Amino acid sequence: MNDFELLVMRVPSPVVMVHGGAGSYLKTTTRAQRIARGDALERAARRGMAAMIPHGGRGAILEAAGELETDPRFNAGRGARLQRDGRCRLSAAMMDGRRHRLSAVYNVADCLHPTQLAAALQDRGDRNLDSEAARTLMRDLGIAPTDVRTPANIARWRALVSAQGPGGRPIADPESAIGDADDTALLAAHRAGAPIPDDLAGPAADAYPATLPPEDRRHGTVGVVALDTDGGLWAATSTGGRGHETPGRISDSPTPAGTYACEAVALSATGFGEQILDLNLGGRIATRVLDGMGLEAALRRTFEEVVRHRALLGVIALTAEGELGYAYSTEACGIAWIDATGRVGRDRHSRAEDD
Ligand code: ASP
Repeated sequence: MNDFELLVMRVPSPVVMVHGGAGSYLKTTTRAQRIARGDALERAARRGMAAMIPHGGRGAILEAAGELETDPRFNAGRGARLQRDGRCRLSAAMMDGRRHRLSAVYNVADCLHPTQLAAALQDRGDRNLDSEAARTLMRDLGIAPTDVRTPANIARWRALVSAQGPGGRPIADPESAIGDADDTALLAAHRAGAPIPDDLAGPAADAYPATLPPEDRRHGTVGVVALDTDGGLWAATSTGGRGHETPGRISDSPTPAGTYACEAVALSATGFGEQILDLNLGGRIATRVLDGMGLEAALRRTFEEVVRHRALLGVIALTAEGELGYAYSTEACGIAWIDATGRVGRDRHSRAEDD
């Protein structure tokens, strides 16, 4: 991977912009699938904008994220990737740029809308909760647990486990291992796991190890940024994680490296979480914009570094000046936005007129 895609333009505010994950999925998805995902992203952006007037920026990002969390095509809420023990754990963050406040839940099991938990935490003293505390919060808020595993994701987990059983032998009954941290299943899943990022770096960056889930299955985290009618910036990101990871692994999404908003810029990242954390992506871009760099220069400088580090990731961003931008070092990243005039836009791979 030697290059990156970048777009920055000025748009009239308010604005809502969403992403549906970054990855190298062009060869493993059909054009129709990409357009259908683009339709879903655009619908989420429109719903966010419809919520903007009655509910402000916070309501707008919650609405857009909530829409994508219920769509099983995205790796957030329903449709989240299963971790190595066959369970889904969701992470999400929200940040209010005006109050400069991040709130997040890490690895909460069986939660359809983790962004709702992050939103509820905005007004509390303890704003960043681990799985156990997030589960208690769910109970306190009267939110019932929801099994967010889809049949397709269970089948995928089963295939990964049975294809890579101990000693290369298929597991006799992988279904029985779903949901319990059975040693055999864990060992097998570990062998099928994704040793990244080293295996993805270097000249053969496109030749993913056979043990990795295909790239069409490695995108789908969702993120939203908004510039509201009062010039306030908002960001939210929601994810099921990288997929097939060690239970308890921390994603970048609930951290300020993956979700960030201040008075100058709001952003949401997607891609390999370890690399997003290593680069402190959110902090890097925000500091540049806060120090007076325009969004285009800030994204360009940052993505030159991203490419130098052979990192595979993407980001969407809005500034208080009304600049909208995105960049990604992966093959593609699903993105859609809507501005104050109702004008919508999408990344080039999910537009009907361009592939
Ligand atoms: N960044 C997410 C994670 O590593 C995954 C993704 O964005 O696809 O948890």
